[in-house]
Parts: sequence; structure tokens; C-alpha cells
Amino acid sequence: MTGTKEVSTINGLIDKVFQFNPEADLDVLRRAYAYSCEAHLKQKRKGGEPFIEHPLAVANILSDMRLDSNTIAAGLLHDTVEDTGTTVEEVRDLFGDDIAFLVEGLTKLSKMELKKKEEAQAENFRKMFLAMAENIRVMLIKFADRLHNMRTLEHLPEDRRTSIAQETLEIYAPLANRLGIGWLKTEFEDLSFMYLMPDTFRELKRKVTKKGKEQKEYLDEIAKIVEAHLKEAGIPGRVIGRVKHLYGIFSKMQKQKIPFELVYDVIAIRIITDTKKNCYMIMGLIHSLWTPVPGRFKDFIGAPKSNLYQSLHTTVIGPRGEKIEFQIRTEDMNKIAEEGIAAHWKYKDSRLSKRRDEEYISWLRELVRMQKDTLDAREFLEAVKGDILPDVVYVFTPEGDIIELPQGSTPVDFAYSIHTEIGNHCSGAKVNGKIVQLRHRLENGDSVEILTSPIQKPSRDWLKFVKSQKAKARIRHWVKTDERKKSLELGKELIEKALKKYGLNKDLIKSKEIVEAVSQFKIKTHDDLFIAVGYGRISPLQAINKFLPEPEKAEPVSKKKETGKPKHVSGITVKGIDNIMFNRAKCCYPLPGEKVAGFVTRGRGVSIHSVDCATLDVNTIDADRLVDVEWSGDKEKTYPVKVLVYTIDKPGVLAEMSAVISSENVNLSHIDASATSDKKARFNFTMEVKDVAQLNSVIKKLSHVSGVIEAMRVKSR
Ligand code: MN
Repeated sequence: MTGTKEVSTINGLIDKVFQFNPEADLDVLRRAYAYSCEAHLKQKRKGGEPFIEHPLAVANILSDMRLDSNTIAAGLLHDTVEDTGTTVEEVRDLFGDDIAFLVEGLTKLSKMELKKKEEAQAENFRKMFLAMAENIRVMLIKFADRLHNMRTLEHLPEDRRTSIAQETLEIYAPLANRLGIGWLKTEFEDLSFMYLMPDTFRELKRKVTKKGKEQKEYLDEIAKIVEAHLKEAGIPGRVIGRVKHLYGIFSKMQKQKIPFELVYDVIAIRIITDTKKNCYMIMGLIHSLWTPVPGRFKDFIGAPKSNLYQSLHTTVIGPRGEKIEFQIRTEDMNKIAEEGIAAHWKYKDSRLSKRRDEEYISWLRELVRMQKDTLDAREFLEAVKGDILPDVVYVFTPEGDIIELPQGSTPVDFAYSIHTEIGNHCSGAKVNGKIVQLRHRLENGDSVEILTSPIQKPSRDWLKFVKSQKAKARIRHWVKTDERKKSLELGKELIEKALKKYGLNKDLIKSKEIVEAVSQFKIKTHDDLFIAVGYGRISPLQAINKFLPEPEKAEPVSKKKETGKPKHVSGITVKGIDNIMFNRAKCCYPLPGEKVAGFVTRGRGVSIHSVDCATLDVNTIDADRLVDVEWSGDKEKTYPVKVLVYTIDKPGVLAEMSAVISSENVNLSHIDASATSDKKARFNFTMEVKDVAQLNSVIKKLSHVSGVIEAMRVKSR
């Protein structure tokens, strides 16, 4: 935490700014303060104090961050346009473009907070991240605003407190961390923790305080030993005993499922020195004093974290047999760890800032770029949350380069982090030399090699296990493009089929008129039309409706003329149509021999349902999206189907059932057995059958097996 002591007057603020920046524009601060006082004159905060205390406190936090005077002035003015009769134009006239720009950005952000629904909130965050990618100072002021609101949260009613604290913990703290502002992340977390779990917070605080004195003595003892050895070796260094913040202790207890005592037995010490070389020297010295704990050494100097954090970490067994965590870094690295992106916006560095910001927010730009097409704000929020969570694994390429991935990442994530094309064609992977599945979870230190194949394509199923936003976005993009392509083909064929059915000229499909006829659906091109039909947004009949003589006369031409030889796709045929996507609906798993109907799904082709499936209920379904289908005569093809059998608990019953099933030439692909509470047994079979007749025959024979109570087909998943 930086100096957070309230400076409750404008003169105090000005003194502070003058101390770190004698050349600051103090006049603009005075003018901004006077203006803000005037604008907020009649307002009170929830706690009853004059409103001006809030912008003053926000400006004060910004001056603790040693930002430039325009940013601090914008902090003083940040609520004027939002809450009072002031306009951005007026602010621009009085204070210039830069300050007006900042105030405008903040006004937009705070308007968003008024909305409450989840969707609206997600959309707000999306806008917030876009705003942040544009100007980081808006975000720093927003952080200061949120911090003061969190510090004064006790004045709000409980439900507001909880939702603000939740949002702070879920979004603001990880974001502060992602931008490298360590002290802010810590304070956000502890304040949120206090409001979200007051009892746990108090209990933990009590325990920490109780242990505090004892710990302090031990820390001092260790510090003395280290200092003496540093002096002897002639290496400069400050040794700081470090107390973990409460939320840090709490989340460590949660994550590792260990009690307070075990977390708190770990002593944490930070050593700050002058050069990178000396960091490594000091680490060697520590390791010569005490035994290092294997696997706990981390070199974030050689491989900085994505928020640019650099430090050496190691854990050793100390003189009392307890673990001591060391963080060793230079002054510069320490500054980066505490101030992060804010360090670049210091009043004196601001010319350099733009370029260096890029290092922090290139991930953010990438995220915004990748999600540009995503209309679903919630998807975006999930992406941001996923990407700013700090839990990562570090793995190696075959060349020994380090790749940082979110925890739980798989070889597919790895492949996409190398290159989109490698991801798209990733067919397998070796981890530490052994072949693994694509869904394999990578661990710290794994060496990963990706196998590719030119015929491999991304699959929608990959979305179920990939963790990185890059992989998710790339796979979604591929799947969408692919579905679009297939829907286009499907739509075209459905229209051709409809033209044929009603005896219309088949060349109509290429005509201008057919597009003009559906302009009420906002369709402009032939492709738009085909895609709309292929996605089931408009029906083939709607597409050609204008060309039908009269709706009543729209009698299909005789069936015999219509069909050529049906072509097969996966054993199912849509009359007169081929080469499109089919799937057996997972709600009813229809079989040959059963009457079926096709339903044009949005983007995934035609799904085949049994005609009595509840999904096709005439009352709820969009009948325009139904298409005629029938089974082709492919006698070799089999289809998986599920059968459930209840038996009494009797030895040999499974063997007998298996014999019956195989005597029908049916393959069993899966068996799942369990005992029921009333001493019966339940078997779930998945078997491959040719048609419904074969299935019925198997079920009939099964129910005659001695010991079987009931055998039935299972239609749901
Ligand atoms: Mn505010």
C-alpha cells in the first residue's frame, strides 16, 4: 500500500504534488478544485459528508501514484459531468482537450454502472476494456475512484456493498494485477474480502495479529543473518520482512486446502539489490546458507510474467526448520512489481509512456481485436476474466522457449499460442516425449511438441477443454466460418428443392428477383439468402413465395417426377438433396424403419428426429424449418442406440444377456452396470443396430432372459 493518509484539503494535495513534481501545473489543480466544489455544492455523500471529499480523495490517490497534473485535475473533475449540470464542452473550454477527454471517458464509464442486469453489466465491461485500451489514464482514474468508494463502502446498504465488493474482487483486482499494480491489487482484495466474508476476515485478522509479534522477531533474526552475509560478500541489498496480505493467506488456504497455521508458518522475505547479476549472486548465497526446497525455485527474471513482473523466487528450510520464501529483485523490478503500468505514467516519464504501455496492454488489444466480431457481451466478459486471472503454467517448446498459458491449458492451447495454423491442424501432441490426448492438462515445466496434419480441422468439441482465450477465439472463428459455408450450401439446395417441388424455373435461383423478393428480411445478396435459409432464419417456401401463382395453388408437382435417384449421406437422405450436414438428434436417436423428419438447425445442418419426438411438437416448433427426409437403403450402416435393462441380482445374468445380443449380430459398444437400493441391478447398454426392427428383436429376446425384469430403449441422452 502506498501512503493512503487522507489529505482532506486542496492545499494538502497541492503541497504533495509540489513535493514530487515542482514543475507541476498547480494552477490547473486549484481551478479544477474550485470548479468541482461549485458543481457539487449541494451534494452529499451517502455518509453525510460534503461530496467534494470524494473527488479530492480520488485526486489524492492519483497523486500518491505520482501521476501528471492533468490526470490529477481530471480526478477532481471526474464526477462533475455525471452528477451535475456541467457538460464536457464546458470542461473543454475551461481546462482543454486532454482533461476533457479524460472526464468524458470517466463519465461514459460511470453511466454504465447504473445498469444492473447481468447482460448490461457484461456490455459495460466490454466498453470499459475498449476505453482502457484507448487511454490507460482513464483506467487509472477509474481505479482511484473505485478504491475510494471501496474505502468508504460502509455507508452503502448491504446489497450494494456486496455487489460492488464482488465486482471489485472479480474484475478490478485481477485487472490491477494484470496491469502490474501490486499494491492496488492487494488493497482491492483485502477490502473486498472484508465486505464479502466479514466473519472469516475478522477471524483471520485476529490470528495474524496474534502471531504477529512472534513472527516479527523471527523475521528480524533471519534478516540479520542475511544482511551480515551480504555485507561480507560485498553485495548491496535491502532485506525486508514481508507480511502476506489477508486475502493472499485466505486464497492460499483455499487453493491448497491447508489450515492457517501451515500458510503462516511460511516466512516471506524480500531482498532488493542493484543489478540483475547480484540477484543471482544473492540467490546462490541463500542456497549456501539453507537447503532449498526442490521445485520451488522460479526465475521470473529470465522469463518475466506477462504483467512484466520480474523477480527470483526460492524457498529454503530455515534455521528453525520452517520454510522461508525469498523474493530477490532489483530496485527497478520492485518498482514495476508495485506500480506496474502506473510507473510509466509518472509525470516525468509521460513522453515514454505510450510505447511502454504497449507491453502491458498488447494482450488487451489482442483480446479486443479477437472479440471484435463477438456480439455476445457475456462471452467477452468471460474471455476477459479468463485472461486476467493470474493462475498460469509455464511450459517449454522443443527449442526450450518458455510459453505462458492459463492453468488447465491443453496441447491445443499450446498449439494456438504458437500459431493459428498450427492450432488449426493440431492432430496430436507429445508431452515430455510421450504421446498424449489433445485434452491432456499441461503441468509446469512440461516440454510440449505438437504434431500436425494437413487434413486435421478444429472441432467444436475442442471448445469444451481449451482454456486460453486465443484458442477459444480461433476455434470459434473457424467453426463459425465452417458452419456458414455449410449453411450456404444447405440453403442453396433447399431452395433448389423447393423450386423443383412447385414446378418453378430452376434458373430463378440465380435471378435478381429472388433476392429482391426477400428484401424485407434485410437480404442483399444471393449468399445472404442462402445462408438465411441454411441457418433456418427464413424457410425455403418464404424464399420463393413471391413466385408462387397463388398460395392455394401451390401444389407440389407429383412425387414420382420429382425424385431422381436419392443420394446417400450417412444412411439418411433428404429427398432430392445431398451433400449437406445431417445428424441424428440426440433427444430421440431415431433408427431406420422409424418415421423421421428433418429440422434445419441454426448453423449445424439438418438434425433428424423421430416424427413423434417432443422436440417437433407442432405447438412450439417453427414449422417452416422442417424438411422431408427418409432413410436411404444402406444395409451395412449401423447406429448406436441405448437400452436399459433391470434384472434381479443374479450371477450369470450379464453373460446370458451378452450371448443373446451377439446372437442377433449386434455389437455392444458400452456397458454400464449399477446396483439399485432394492437389490436389483441396472444395466445401460449402448449397442450398434441396423434398424428399429433389429432393435425390437433384441429387446424382446432380452426380456425373456431369466432374471430380467424389464428391458427398454432409452431415447434421451
Ligand atoms: Mn466517483
